[in-house]
Amino acid sequence: MQAQQYKFSTKTIDCYFDADFSLLEKLVSKQKVVIITDENIASIYADKFSGWKVITIKSGEEHKQQSTVDNLIDQLIKLQADKETFIIGIGGGVITDITGYAASVYMRGIKFAFIPTTILAMVDAAIGGKNGVDVGIYKNLVGVIRHPEFLLYDFSLLKTLPNEEWINGFAEVIKHACIKDFKMFENLENSSLDEFKSDQHKISELVKRNVDIKYNVVANDEFETGERKLLNFGHTIGHAIENICKISHGNAVSIGIVAACKISESLIAFAETETKRITLLIERYHLPVNLNFDADKIWEILLMDKKKAGEKMNFILLEKIGKGIVKPVPLSQLKELINTKVCDN
Ligand code: ADP
Ligand code: ZN
Repeated sequence: MQAQQYKFSTKTIDCYFDADFSLLEKLVSKQKVVIITDENIASIYADKFSGWKVITIKSGEEHKQQSTVDNLIDQLIKLQADKETFIIGIGGGVITDITGYAASVYMRGIKFAFIPTTILAMVDAAIGGKNGVDVGIYKNLVGVIRHPEFLLYDFSLLKTLPNEEWINGFAEVIKHACIKDFKMFENLENSSLDEFKSDQHKISELVKRNVDIKYNVVANDEFETGERKLLNFGHTIGHAIENICKISHGNAVSIGIVAACKISESLIAFAETETKRITLLIERYHLPVNLNFDADKIWEILLMDKKKAGEKMNFILLEKIGKGIVKPVPLSQLKELINTKVCDN
């Protein structure tokens, strides 16, 4: 099977789209592999994993922590993993983040690859090399930037993905459309979640387009000095909301996107009708747009999360649908806008 190659400064990764899980055996030597996955995937796909060494961790973002990695390292030692061991992370973003991080620090770095099984991991978490864990309220505070050797996309694994996880992943798809791809935005407007769920070809095409978008943004700015910040669209306020209400990442990001649109209206005359159009698309994919939050609380968490000491914060705004921009915004102005525009209900 022909791989599509994505070049980063430190590594070229092979991407196997429309592959079957069974390809794994041809890409790596079974004896050298340790699979890392979560308890749900391990039980659903027990048959596929038979004959492989598997480490299972608890599912859920609350386990994306250093203690889980410590435990994982103990298990790698028990399995006598060494420099030649190849770690394969099979799962959603939690698994890819933990796997990439653990593989990067174990013996100062061993090889790893991903088989992403959620929409979010397929279009976002598995690409770009950012791996790590949360520390308390601080998301992804500790981690490394290191790319996997390859990505294997088996879209049939999505058949068992719970509906709420499909919805969750579409928040990042809509984010990509907003900042980079008006055509994809229109395509999403003319489709529905059910259509993507029931048509493997359709979801495969959408995922590939999103991998390209994320890859291009990251490759242009691997160390996040500029353009890569665009990927934070909806995430500044989104992360604060995620911390306050413990809702899923996708739900929080959707609300964050609507908030960023409203702030864009004030700061760079983004059209109100465009905000409405984005709001409708978010709702079309069953994601929330409600902005009923306590502005002071959001502000408090946002400052803590960003560890912000300076006078300005880089905020991602929309000029129009399909074109995001990074703009340093004075903190006082941002606070005022959150009070008056975002939490005005
Ligand atoms: P995210 O990609 O959103 O970070 P997680 O790693 O937290 O996702 O996974 C979300 C949930 O979906 C977890 O409970 C995980 O076990 C489950 N899950 C992931 N992929 C699949 C799949 N293909 N089939 C069934 N459940 C899955
Ligand atoms: Zn995100």
